[in-house]
Amino acid sequence: MSNKSSVRVRFAPSPTGDLHVGNIRTALFDWAYARHTGGKLIFRIEDTDTERVTDQYIQAAIDTLKWLGLNWDEGPEVGGEYGPYLQSQRLEIYATWADKFLAQGDAYHCYCSGEELEERRQLQMKNNQAPGYDGKCRNLSATQIQEFKSQGRKPVVRMRMPDGETTFVDAIRGEVKFEHKYVPDFVLARADGSPLYTLAVAVDDVLMKITHVLRGEDLLSSTPRQIRVYQAMGLKPSEYPIFAHLPFVMGQDNAKLSKRNGEVSIAWYREQGFLPEAICNYLALLGWSPGDDKENITMQELVELFTVERVNSSPARFDMKKLEAINGDKIRALTIDEFLKWALPFLINAKVITGTQAELDVVRSALPIIQERIVKLAEIPTMLNFLFVKNFKVEGDEMGKIVDPDSQNVLKVALTKLEPVQSWDHVAIESVLRVALIEELGLKPRIAFSALRIAVTGSHISPPLFESLELLGKERSIARIKAAISN
Ligand code: GLU
Repeated sequence: MSNKSSVRVRFAPSPTGDLHVGNIRTALFDWAYARHTGGKLIFRIEDTDTERVTDQYIQAAIDTLKWLGLNWDEGPEVGGEYGPYLQSQRLEIYATWADKFLAQGDAYHCYCSGEELEERRQLQMKNNQAPGYDGKCRNLSATQIQEFKSQGRKPVVRMRMPDGETTFVDAIRGEVKFEHKYVPDFVLARADGSPLYTLAVAVDDVLMKITHVLRGEDLLSSTPRQIRVYQAMGLKPSEYPIFAHLPFVMGQDNAKLSKRNGEVSIAWYREQGFLPEAICNYLALLGWSPGDDKENITMQELVELFTVERVNSSPARFDMKKLEAINGDKIRALTIDEFLKWALPFLINAKVITGTQAELDVVRSALPIIQERIVKLAEIPTMLNFLFVKNFKVEGDEMGKIVDPDSQNVLKVALTKLEPVQSWDHVAIESVLRVALIEELGLKPRIAFSALRIAVTGSHISPPLFESLELLGKERSIARIKAAISN
């Protein structure tokens, strides 16, 4: 995209809740671009809206990036020579620039009240005019200013947008043009002196020497205002950062992905047991592709292959099934030790185990048989519960499936054949049961084994049956089959 030698790209969220899929896709692309180019990732928290951006959300954002493995070179917890990296700690900087813009004549004080603005906006809409500031306070005389002041009005600082247009080359979209008649004079600072987004973001991008702004398409329309601030700060076009606006992420209904049409909170994905690498892998494919049909990539491959040229400008559709498939692949690629490390918190949180060494040994021997079967870690507790549950009992719904005479017959036959088995391993168990139920009784495997599965695991969905019987041990298996018969 550019041959600037030292790339500085930033991720600048305003966390007003948990980071969502769109934020993380942006963070990931920022990270991948920084790592691919050997540049720096700057993590800046845009928390000038202190009511909505709380300390708790800021901390959650930091934790989420860490959990995903998206490390940053400057920002919270790391520091850096262009800090502080929390905008709430930079308010004086923005105030100084706002004053400078006033002194230069680039900005002016605007005394219009919220109600007056709203009234005029309604009128504009009624007259089919584009709504926006009408320039009323652009050229106030000293007397007018005096009068407003004597009325006790406190002014906001508004940027003067000259006639004409702003054109820039977006690295993803090509040339983008905004006619200024659609970009009215905008507020830089409120009456209490606090900065608005456009002022803070542009000032920081300049002062933090940002070379590339990769961010969501929703911010495309704010770009001409930011460029106006750069101009007022004295930058030449060749000194502006390069913009690259990433395509929208849509839900299955083709509307922008939101709480209404999908799960957006990264915290939810974490609770469900999506691995960070699966989330990153999948989100990388939302608007970007490695160049062939390959869909399963590692973080290392992402870093090697990521270029902005391969980012698409058309919206990307979020597909939960694909994410699940990728997560399943990543789970299968784990070593048993890694899988154990991921599985344990889920089992402990669900109170399936407390974490004793004896339990860990059982879990470790059980994990290989479920590794092929799950797509999310949150499925593990249900799958393995039968190995740990005290006072095992088949619950009503499942019990209902095995009270019919055919199921009872299967259980009785299985019991007589299993009781004499000496070496209790899945190979021996399987061959005994296949001969008895499939060959001798002539049953279909699904029917033959379903009753048995319910009797010993309590559920018709479980890990592979023969391995489950082996793990459970002979004594408990026999006792459970007996209980299912006498019931
Ligand atoms: N803080 C802005 C937001 O979260 C993004 C700033 C930017 O990337 O330019 O919407």
